[in-house]
Amino acid sequence: MELPEIYLLSRDMYKELKGKTVNDVEVKNVKCLNLPFEEFRSIIVGKKFLGAKPKGKWVSLEIEDEYTLLYNTGMGANTIYYQKDDQPQETWHIKFRFEDGSGFTSRVWWFCYLHLLKNSELASHKMTAKLGPTPLDSDFSEDYLNGLFIAKRSSVKNILMDQSKVAGIGNVYIHDPLFLANVHPLRQANTITRDELTKLYASIKTVINESISCGGLAYEVNFYGVKGDYGKNRYRVAYKEGEACPICGETIQKIKTGSTSSYICPKCQPL
Ligand SMILES: [Zn+2]
Repeated sequence: MELPEIYLLSRDMYKELKGKTVNDVEVKNVKCLNLPFEEFRSIIVGKKFLGAKPKGKWVSLEIEDEYTLLYNTGMGANTIYYQKDDQPQETWHIKFRFEDGSGFTSRVWWFCYLHLLKNSELASHKMTAKLGPTPLDSDFSEDYLNGLFIAKRSSVKNILMDQSKVAGIGNVYIHDPLFLANVHPLRQANTITRDELTKLYASIKTVINESISCGGLAYEVNFYGVKGDYGKNRYRVAYKEGEACPICGETIQKIKTGSTSSYICPKCQPL
């Protein structure tokens, strides 16, 4: 899950869970916890959920008494809300129930993290303390992006996928913003012109917001079990190897960029 899906999950969790008191929790994959299960359970049962917001690829859930529950779905998870009289999804690894009988379950695809911390411990939580702003945050400005690129010899792709610099973009949402800005993923950051930067900044926001307005990725379900509509029908070059570029008609290529792959139009995005 990347930023659009995390944003949508946070929004819906906020709507459904705010003000609800935990009645019980069950966790089958206890490795995802940062505390022994009994300790985790004894802290969270009886406490209220107060809020939810995205933090890079994490959902940060505000819990009563100065606690935060950090949830990272790893490669993905079906995190689904149920009401009092609903049947929760059949297979699950994590199950919360609230005092009003509603709750949510999570069926994790591969691994996940569910970390419960005191707010005073957040600054020392290694996996999230150093996360940069997400493209939806107000401190993600064009000048901020410029500051990341200026005098840097790393590739643009590496910088944009470095979660300590920009949080929430992974190997799904990286391709189309670069294409829309005519920037090759391996371009050295310090060669990006101000015009290219302006285009790239705008296209990152365009792609993230477009996916949010489509309800996120077509192969992930939201908090109500409904799939999004962002996929092959919306991608420009992402995952379209061998197809024609929507701008110039050149064949889209899949190339190696370090340990990951990129999808590019070689004509629109010269190196
Ligand atoms: Zn092209």
